[in-house]
Amino acid sequence: MKYISTRGNAPAKTFTEILLGGLAPDGGLYLPEQYPQVTRAELDAWRNLSYADLAFAVLSKFATDIPAVDLKAIVSKTYTAAVYSNGRVDSNAKDITPLRKLSEGVYLQELSNGPTLAFKDMAMQLLGNLFEYALAKDHAELNILGATSGDTGSAAEYAMRGKRGIRVFMLSPNGKMSSFQRAQMYSLQDPNIFNIAVNGMFDDAQDMVKAVSNDHAYKAAHKIGTVNSINWGRVSAQIVYYFKGYFAATKSNDEQVAFSVPSGNFGNICAGHIARMMGLPIGQLILATNENDVLDEFFRTGVYRPRGTDHTYETSSPSMDISKASNFERFVFDLVGRDGAKVREFWGKVDAGGAFDIKDSAYWNELSKFHFSSGKSSHQDRLKTIREVWEEYGVMIDTHTADGLKVGLEQRRPSLPLICLETALPAKFAETIQEALGRQPERPAALEGIEDLPQRCEVMDADVATLKAFISANVPR
Ligand SMILES: *Cc1c(COP(=O)(O)O)cnc(C)c1O
Repeated sequence: MKYISTRGNAPAKTFTEILLGGLAPDGGLYLPEQYPQVTRAELDAWRNLSYADLAFAVLSKFATDIPAVDLKAIVSKTYTAAVYSNGRVDSNAKDITPLRKLSEGVYLQELSNGPTLAFKDMAMQLLGNLFEYALAKDHAELNILGATSGDTGSAAEYAMRGKRGIRVFMLSPNGKMSSFQRAQMYSLQDPNIFNIAVNGMFDDAQDMVKAVSNDHAYKAAHKIGTVNSINWGRVSAQIVYYFKGYFAATKSNDEQVAFSVPSGNFGNICAGHIARMMGLPIGQLILATNENDVLDEFFRTGVYRPRGTDHTYETSSPSMDISKASNFERFVFDLVGRDGAKVREFWGKVDAGGAFDIKDSAYWNELSKFHFSSGKSSHQDRLKTIREVWEEYGVMIDTHTADGLKVGLEQRRPSLPLICLETALPAKFAETIQEALGRQPERPAALEGIEDLPQRCEVMDADVATLKAFISANVPR
């Protein structure tokens, strides 16, 4: 299996070759040359596998340059109940991503059983183990540079802390995360973890990361890699739970399901798109945004118009406060029939601060073949959904999951079972839970009092030179 760039001007690479990198040299994102196909016989054979065995089966199709015994060991070590049992109340953590039935044909898929209480642990824990394996093989080192609006950063840090040969430099928007999220990240004292609080929004931090990554000489000299949501290893790991959720919600492989996905950078739902392209019977992929609705706008109108950072709203589902969706290019590459020149044309406009519009082109018709629906959710919707789910089912959901559920219920085709991806636990967003329910969210016992731990972080202006100087000072050469 080789990987090619969405912009069509970069040499094909293997899984391991792209694992430690970020963007392709032509500025595009990597995707498999062709999506591996899953036969009906394979689907039948996979139906009753454990999560770890299913992950091995799926990932074997993508990580073809890792020997099977090694991949199996890495996957088994990652997807164990020991990693995915954060002590949440009343969970069946041995299933790793169990389904929780709300009503007839409506399910939540628990993806927040990892150490940082958000679905990003599902992929990031795998990445930590893959990185350690790949680096040890080459006696190499890696300095991970990333930007986070909360969940990515903590998931990366908990996956990489203490790992040999790895340092993490994680940028976050100063003062824009919940106190719990800040405590989760800034309380880590591991010497290989560097938290940097940027005076600005998430997009400012992400632009700094992009600027450093585009300085190819600096990047090479300082062995810089990324774990942000464009990392192919992360996307591929997320494909697995679509299979798991499908099998759990159906009795036979003749059935179809709908997935509803709270979306920001289009990473999670991109994995669902790929699962469908592989042959998983997904009848509908429902994309939910919050007030930052650039993706909903595209699926409704055909116009993709990223907002300026000054037009990004701060919302109560902050991990979806995104004005450009960094993984969206992967989907558009498939939409335009894998025409790299077309993607270059579109992103030429986007990168210049503009928009592209497919409404009056043949691509608008093509779009319907990918089975997407979309919708958006507001703060009031979020409060209402959290309240209703608590009152009707006694289940407490977080703000992002509430966005997904609200839009999922609105957009679903009633004939399909609806699987709403739970992307975080309510404990991470206590202020909004308090507002919705008049009570504090339940919190896994291990995380009681985390806000009282001493915190450590570097505050920095949104300036690329300052960032480079900080990295240089902390990387022995
Ligand atoms: C990251 C995140 C999202 C958005 O996922 P994308 O892959 O960026 O679309 C949604 N909810 C939560 C809780 C997250 O952490």
